[in-house]
Amino acid sequence: MNTSSLVEQEIRIEQSCNQRSREGESTTLRYFIWTIGCQMNKAESQRIAGYLDAAGHQATTSFSHADLVVLNTCVVRQSAENKVLGTLGLLKGLKDRNPNLQILVTGCLVNADTQELRRGFPHVDLWFKPGDYSELISWSQKRGIPIKHRVNLPRAFSPCAFIPIIQGCDNFCSYCIVPYRRGREVSRPLGEIVCEVEQLVNRGIKEVTLLGQNVDSYGHDLPGHPDLADLLNELSNIDDLLRIRFLTNHPKDITLKLIDTMASLNKVCEHLELPVQSGDNDILKAMRRGYTVERYRELVRTIRSKVPQISLSTDIIVGFPGETEEQFERSLALVKEMRFDAIHVAAYSPRPGTIAWREYEDDVPAEIKKERLHKIEELQAAIAGDINSQLQGQQVEVLVEGKKREKWFGRTRSNKLVFFQDAGDWLGQLARVQIEKTSPWSLIGQVKK
Ligand code: SAM
Ligand code: SF4
Repeated sequence: MNTSSLVEQEIRIEQSCNQRSREGESTTLRYFIWTIGCQMNKAESQRIAGYLDAAGHQATTSFSHADLVVLNTCVVRQSAENKVLGTLGLLKGLKDRNPNLQILVTGCLVNADTQELRRGFPHVDLWFKPGDYSELISWSQKRGIPIKHRVNLPRAFSPCAFIPIIQGCDNFCSYCIVPYRRGREVSRPLGEIVCEVEQLVNRGIKEVTLLGQNVDSYGHDLPGHPDLADLLNELSNIDDLLRIRFLTNHPKDITLKLIDTMASLNKVCEHLELPVQSGDNDILKAMRRGYTVERYRELVRTIRSKVPQISLSTDIIVGFPGETEEQFERSLALVKEMRFDAIHVAAYSPRPGTIAWREYEDDVPAEIKKERLHKIEELQAAIAGDINSQLQGQQVEVLVEGKKREKWFGRTRSNKLVFFQDAGDWLGQLARVQIEKTSPWSLIGQVKK
């Protein structure tokens, strides 16, 4: 083929793309976004929905009703990865029956080199890295599915919005796949976040949760190095914003400045997610967490003295390679001592490519891991049940997020889930609720008018 015919061919391709683009402008797609994993994934799915809505496409409620499917994936543990692979298999069947179905995949399944994924799952139309909306936009424009560039607001499902403030993680805890999939830390400029929150508040958002794998790293890569405390101060000045939350903190990085800022700003809720992971120093060292149990204990003491109403959540991994019965007992003892409000407990799952996968044998049998997981859950249910029972008869302030089976639900500043029944329209309102019934997981009460 000579050069001029190559050029002619390119022109023909471009014309055909333009033609499809024009045709595409009137195309309304029904889309379905399937999300598993952390809050970051949920926030990113909201954002993808925001782009698709702004382009005129319509959300639908199942795979079978959709022309465009987005899978937002998690592979932090094997169980999550299995669900993702099962769903990809299901979609292959749907695509065989409907070849026009567009399948897009994002989240932590997507690694830097997508070639192998493309070979393994040829029915997927686009793999894009978490948070990489430019790839999504250019792919869709090439296919005549227009998505506007300038839409950057997440879709508001409720009065509460999740705002990613830092992508990636630089920590490389030995068990964790996240840094390999989400890359190094990149903070969003402070002004950009403030502007986004202002726009959301103008659209009725009352509460924001700032997200990052390690929010304590926020800003170190930005000019002037603003930190999370600086961001909280700026956001507090937004008039109609009622509440600010953030997660996840890292025990090795959280600062006194942040704790003092939490204590001083009324809008910042009294809730922290501070993952401890283990109650044994040797295991913490093998996990490469960068702190000791003593340091964690001291930190919690400081936080509780400066923010007395604080509610604390943590994460614990049981059955890390080499974890003996005594080492596990230390995690159990720490749970008893700390009296957390909530715990996310997980059985260790070897993740190919991580340091722990390379260096340690996954030598705690599955049934022992399960037993340890249940022991922590059982103990925690008793502790949370006891903590929550102290709210019986008290009035709490609830920001109402929605309605489920005839009951309004929302959360207290300390992140307790509260349900109440009332004929009024409470969506997005602050309600004072008198607590009548408590459990380890939620509270039920009567609204006070
Ligand atoms: N950045 C946070 C931190 O520092 O703990 C948490 C992020 S991590 C994606 C979420 C939780 O998943 C972790 O706290 C840990 O308990 C769990 N997790 C991560 N990798 C795991 C693995 N290989 N096996 C079991 N649980 C794991
Ligand atoms: Fe994973 Fe550790 Fe980073 Fe959390 S801090 S995302 S556990 S590497």
